[in-house]
Amino acid sequence: LKDVIVRATEMTVPRLEEKNISFEAEIEQDVVVEGDANRLIQVVMNLMTNATTYSPENTKIKVKLYEQNKSGVIEIIDEGIGIEKPEIPRIFERFYRVDRARSRNSGGTGLGLAIVKHLIEAHHGKIQVESEVGKGTTMRVILPEKQPN
Ligand code: ATP
Ligand code: MG
Repeated sequence: LKDVIVRATEMTVPRLEEKNISFEAEIEQDVVVEGDANRLIQVVMNLMTNATTYSPENTKIKVKLYEQNKSGVIEIIDEGIGIEKPEIPRIFERFYRVDRARSRNSGGTGLGLAIVKHLIEAHHGKIQVESEVGKGTTMRVILPEKQPN
């Protein structure tokens, strides 16, 4: 998963620079999972793009990778606008966008997280959201580690 994070974040650098958002990766250890590297890059890129889109300028985004309970855990932590509690389950629905995002007219379709959830589930993983309005959001992706044969 280390390569996945490196490649996904590399592709987000121009967007980060545009908004002067600083970026930090905290890779505790590499974790190997089964699946399609390009799809997983797509997942992390989508989450990084959201973190950037829904954060003001001059904030910080952090990505962590660690192992827990035979799973690889990736966290994407932003200091952005946050998501209200009742909205959290809805953001994974197709075409759903929180009002603030719609009125911002950031040009999204609301499909990103629906695809992300689908891809994570195809890898037998799950996604968790922690968010506080005005403080920021943590997206946590949990993927089962590859089992030795
Ligand atoms: P796109 O299809 O281009 O990704 P989108 O970003 O609007 O469009 P999703 O990525 O599916 O769609 O996200 C759905 C909604 O969830 C967003 O419109 C936004 O309201 C909210 N959201 C997602 N990520 C964050 C975040 N990190 N901070 C705050 N709100 C978020
Ligand atoms: Mg998006």
